[in-house]
Amino acid sequence: MKDNTVEMACPKCGQIFTERPAVSRVDNVTLICPDCGTREALASLGVEPEEQNEILDIIHEKSR
Ligand SMILES: [Zn+2]
Repeated sequence: MKDNTVEMACPKCGQIFTERPAVSRVDNVTLICPDCGTREALASLGVEPEEQNEILDIIHEKSR
């Protein structure tokens, strides 16, 4: 069996993920998990952390 799935540990939250990583906006180099990528994007828009969690919950429910 051959696939391209690679397990990565997110340096931001420590979560192990296999999805395509996002590039951190902080340095444009660090690869982070999609959740943290979404958080950074929302934070850059001025979204509060609590609201970021709510939005991530919605995203996770939709992808299920
Ligand atoms: Zn993360």
